[in-house]
Amino acid sequence: MNDDCIFCKIVGKQIPAVLVYEDDKVLAFNDVNPQAPVHVLVIPKAHITTVAELEDMSVIKDLFAVMKKVAEEKGIDKTGYRIVVNHGKDSGQAVPHLHFHLLGGRSLHWPPG
Ligand code: AMP
Repeated sequence: MNDDCIFCKIVGKQIPAVLVYEDDKVLAFNDVNPQAPVHVLVIPKAHITTVAELEDMSVIKDLFAVMKKVAEEKGIDKTGYRIVVNHGKDSGQAVPHLHFHLLGGRSLHWPPG
């Protein structure tokens, strides 16, 4: 838990979010500024700043299992979806707590901007 981290505060229920999934290691919630009809953020509860700080790769397995489940529950598993992770300044990463964007429910452009 990082006291200055907005996603840690969502994990700690200090600030509200629309939760989509929760277990002891992973939390999923709706992005407050959705870029697609389905835009869910999937995060480890542990504070990991970026992919570059990931040491325990089992976290990735947990996150992908949840993304697969959420995609099915949101009904985008057949139509398709995109998973995005931003790392660092050039990517535009705004929140320094590792998070996966799960986007779907519309046709997504490629390449991303
Ligand atoms: P990134 O640019 O990859 O760091 O993405 C951060 C994402 O977090 C953005 O899509 C924001 O809309 C989203 N976000 C920021 N604050 C909140 C919040 N309190 N609840 C839900 N989503 C948030």
